[in-house]
Amino acid sequence: MTNWTPPFLDSLLLDEPLDRYSALRLGGRAEWLYIARDSRDALVRVVQSAWEHGVEVHVLGGGANVLISDHGLKGLVVINQLKHLDFQADYRLLAHSGLGLGTLAQLCAKRGWSGFEWAVSVPGTLGGAIVNNAGAHGGEMQHAILRVEWLDAEQGLQSSTLEQLQYGYRTSYFKQRADKRFLILQAELQFQPADPSVIRSTMEQFIAHRKRTQPKGASLGSIYKNPPNDYAGRLIEQAGLKGYRIGDAGVSDIHANFFINLGNATAHDYYRLIRYVQAQVYQQTGILLETEVECLGEMG
Ligand SMILES: Cc1cc2nc3c(=O)[nH]c(=O)nc-3n(C[C@H](O)[C@H](O)[C@H](O)COP(=O)(O)OP(=O)(O)OC[C@H]3O[C@@H](n4cnc5c(N)ncnc54)[C@H](O)[C@@H]3O)c2cc1C
Repeated sequence: MTNWTPPFLDSLLLDEPLDRYSALRLGGRAEWLYIARDSRDALVRVVQSAWEHGVEVHVLGGGANVLISDHGLKGLVVINQLKHLDFQADYRLLAHSGLGLGTLAQLCAKRGWSGFEWAVSVPGTLGGAIVNNAGAHGGEMQHAILRVEWLDAEQGLQSSTLEQLQYGYRTSYFKQRADKRFLILQAELQFQPADPSVIRSTMEQFIAHRKRTQPKGASLGSIYKNPPNDYAGRLIEQAGLKGYRIGDAGVSDIHANFFINLGNATAHDYYRLIRYVQAQVYQQTGILLETEVECLGEMG
């Protein structure tokens, strides 16, 4: 047990199961868990105190892109639900990083602000999307970003422009930073005017496309990035792995780049499936699929 007395001790949960905070509905326990609901200042104090005391910090939004170890996570896990939003002039807005992507897409649509239609049914928060450069249907998080405000464990409060954040396909400065000692607080985003009914109709098409092409059930979305000029799902299907299972972790019959928790999958099953599929595709095609999802904690 980490020797740390956090601020707002009464608001922290000890030894809390993490499966309920994971889109995959699995994972062990957090040593300490803090759910940031309304106070940005309180969140900053808790995280800074943990950093100062050498306590490892994991910040989660929707848990939609992370595989959490069965053995749980040491130190502090933050569930970021800070959702404050401020619409400004010239189709700009300031949003806290815990705001849901779907919620933001709907709120922008209502106002006739275009640029976030792609996000309508992408799970997770703005913070996770800023780290991953989430994207769909030709849109990407980086297209809306003007500036991101974040906290660095050593350097304190930072404000970075789009150019400084080194965005690429499902990657960013944040994603590449192995030490993880940062906390994204808010972003300034830019949209464009459009007819709300056109925005709505585009979003409905995207929702319908997802319903047609993606499986139901607990998953992490795409497991691997698409290799250049190809699709990970196509390569997995071609390797004959649709429906392949390890324990209760299974490759979807509908979309082979989605792996589903069929009921009682463990992170260990899921991790083995990720490695097995990667090895099979490599043996058959010479292409090494790169994982898009992130593993947290020990997978052995
Ligand atoms: C059914 C399904 C469909 C999906 N479809 C898509 C898709 O179409 N396109 C796509 O790009 N992705 C997709 N995903 C993946 C996922 O939705 C995105 O990666 C999303 O951006 C994850 O956001 P999150 O808040 O859940 O991040 P989490 O999974 O909680 O975290 C992801 C990473 O970001 C870090 N992080 C999160 N918030 C902060 C913060 N405030 N400060 C510092 N670090 C932070 C975490 O530490 C972790 O490293 C899908 C997932 C599912 C389950």
